[in-house]
Amino acid sequence: MTTYQDSCEETGVFLPDSRHTVHPVNMASARQVLNDTFGYHDFRHHQSDIIANLLEGGDALVLMPTGGGKSLCFQIPALLRAGTGIVISPLIALMQDQVDALRQLGLRAAFLNSTLDGRSRQMIEQALLDGELDLLYIAPERLLTAHMQDLLQRASISLFAIDEAHCVSQWGHDFRKEYQQLSVLAERYPGVPRIALTATADQRTRAEIIEQLRLQQAAVFINSFDRPNIRYYISEGRNPRERLWRFIQAEHPGDAGIVYCLSRNKVEQVADWLCGKGRVALAYHAGLPERMRREHQQRFLQEDGVVIVATIAFGMGIDKPDVRFVAHLNLPKSVEAYYQETGRAGRDGQPADAWMAYNLQDVIMLRKMMNDSDADDCFKRVSSHKLETMLGLCDLTSCRRQALLAYFNEHLDEPCGNCDTCLEPPRTWDATEAAQKALSCVFRTGQRFGVNYVVEVLLGKEDARIQRNGHQRATTFGIGREHNATEWRSIFRQLIAQAYLDIDPDGHGSMQLTEKARPLLRGEARLQLRHQPGPEKKARRERSSRPVVELQPDDQSLFEALRAHRLQLAKQQGVPPYVIFHDSTLVEMAARRPHSEAELRGITGVGETKLDRFGRSFIELIAAHADP
Ligand code: ADP
Ligand code: ZN
Repeated sequence: MTTYQDSCEETGVFLPDSRHTVHPVNMASARQVLNDTFGYHDFRHHQSDIIANLLEGGDALVLMPTGGGKSLCFQIPALLRAGTGIVISPLIALMQDQVDALRQLGLRAAFLNSTLDGRSRQMIEQALLDGELDLLYIAPERLLTAHMQDLLQRASISLFAIDEAHCVSQWGHDFRKEYQQLSVLAERYPGVPRIALTATADQRTRAEIIEQLRLQQAAVFINSFDRPNIRYYISEGRNPRERLWRFIQAEHPGDAGIVYCLSRNKVEQVADWLCGKGRVALAYHAGLPERMRREHQQRFLQEDGVVIVATIAFGMGIDKPDVRFVAHLNLPKSVEAYYQETGRAGRDGQPADAWMAYNLQDVIMLRKMMNDSDADDCFKRVSSHKLETMLGLCDLTSCRRQALLAYFNEHLDEPCGNCDTCLEPPRTWDATEAAQKALSCVFRTGQRFGVNYVVEVLLGKEDARIQRNGHQRATTFGIGREHNATEWRSIFRQLIAQAYLDIDPDGHGSMQLTEKARPLLRGEARLQLRHQPGPEKKARRERSSRPVVELQPDDQSLFEALRAHRLQLAKQQGVPPYVIFHDSTLVEMAARRPHSEAELRGITGVGETKLDRFGRSFIELIAAHADP
C-alpha cells in the first residue's frame, strides 16, 4: 500500500486505502471543542480530515504553511482521545508561550525542559502519570532519555505530535540529529497515532520525513502554500535603508515587524538607526549574550509595536500572530528561505507585507560567501543554483505569487492582484534584439563560459583570456556596445531566470542555450524585459497609508480602548497580549459591539474559558464606550 506519491505535484490528501470513515460522533465532538474551547466557527483547510484521521488512530503527515493552523490538528485529538498528547518540539524558548496560550483556553498543558527546577519537573511528571495533562511539550533530546522513556511507558498517551518535522532533514538548515532517532516511537508505541507537521514544502524533505520517521503508512495532507493576505514587494537599487524607513513610516507606523539583515554588524547598525528614528527596535543575532537575546525576543512577543532587527538566527517557530511586516535588507539565499522568513508575517490572516530591497553588492557577497565556504562542490553547486532561482524571482515582470507557488509545484490560475508586479506593473522594454545578441554570443563562444566573460566579448574587451581563446575574432565580438556591463548582466540574469539559458551544473557557471532560446534566435518570438531602475530613476510613488485592520472611524477609538484593556490583562498575567485575544477578535468586538455574553460568544476567538475569565470586563468596557 502506498500512501505517499512521490510524483505528486498538487495539493491534496493521500489516504491509506484501508481507512474507514470516522464515526460521526467523534467529529461532532471535535467541532464542539473547536467552538467551545477555541471559539472558532469552522475548520480550516484539511484540519477536519486530519483530526478525523487521528481520532481513528491513523498516522498523519501534515504540510501547511506558517499560520495555517497546524497546532489545532493535534490539540483537538489530544483532548478527545484518552491520555496525554506528547508534543515534540525543538523550540524550548517558545514552549512557555505555547503552554500559556493553552492554559488561557482552560486546557491542562505543561512542558518539560531544562528551564524547569527539579521540583516543578517532578510535579509535571507526576501529573503525567496521574493522567492529569491534556498536552505535554518536550524537546526531542529529553524525550529520548531512559528516564523519560520509562515514564512514558507507564503513562497513558493519546498521540505523539512531531512539530517542525523538517528538522530530520540533513539537507535543511534546521537539522537536529535527535529528530532522526524519533523513529523509535514507531516501534515502542505501536498503537499510538503519530502526526508529523512542517511548513517546509519541498519534495526531498517530505520524502525524508516519511523515511526517517517511518511514516510510510501515514495519510499525507498537503495544503496550499498560498498566503493570500501577504503582499509581496521586491526592489533592487540604492539606499535600501532609507527606502525601508519610508516604507515603515508610511505603512506600519505602530506595528510589530521583523527586519532581516545578512550580517551581525548590519543588524546592530540598523537597530540603532531605527531607534534614532523613534521606533522601538531591538537587535537579535547569535553573537549577542543569551540573556539579551531572550529579553529581546520576549519584548517583541509581549509589547505592542516592537521591531526586531535580526539575522536569520531569529524566527523559527516564532508564532506571534500579529507581525505586520517582514522586511529583508538583503537577498535571501533561496526561495525556500525567502518564503519561510516572509511567512512569519500575518499569521492571523490580517493584511501583512513582505518587503525586500537589495542591491547587486549583496549578490556578489553571497556568491563570495558560498565560494569561500568549506562545503563540498556538490553543496556549493546546489546553493548557487538556489541563489540564481531567487534572483529570478526578483527580476520577474509577472505575478510574484504565481512564481512562488509554481516553485512549490502549485498552480495559481490568475495573477494575484496583491504583489508589487500586479499592483504596479514594472516598466519593460523590447529586449528582443539584445537577447538575440546575448544568446548568439553564448553560442559563438562555445557555451562554455559564464556571464562575465560573455559580457566582455559583447563589449569587445580585448583581454588576455579572450585573446587566448581567439574570441576577438568571433562574429559577436563587440556587437553589444549600446549597453554597459551592468545592463548586460541584468539581461543575462533575466534570460537565465526565464529559462532561455541554463546554468551548467558543473558549478563553473557556464551558460547553455535551452530549447526556448531557439524561436527567439530565429526571430519567431519577441521578448520584454524589466527595466532596471537607474540611479536617477525617480522615487517610487509610495502607497497610501493603509490601516492594518478594516475598522470604521467610529470604531477605532473603541478598538484602542479594547487593546489597552487587553494589555493590562496581559501584564497582570505575565503573558503576551495576543494570548488573551488576537487583534482580529478585538476588531470584531469593536465593529459588532456585543452587549451580552451570548453575543460575545459569537465572536471568533472567544471560547468558553475566555468568556468566563474576561467576558464581563470586555462587555462592560464596550457598554461604557457607547454611553460615556
Ligand atoms: P501554524 O502552527 O500552522 O503556523 P497555528 O497553529 O499557530 O499555525 O495557527 C495560526 C493561527 O490561526 C492561530 O492563532 C490559531 O489559533 C488560528 N487558527 C487555527 N485554526 C483556526 C480555525 N479553524 N479558525 C480560526 N482560527 C484558527
Ligand atoms: Zn501578483
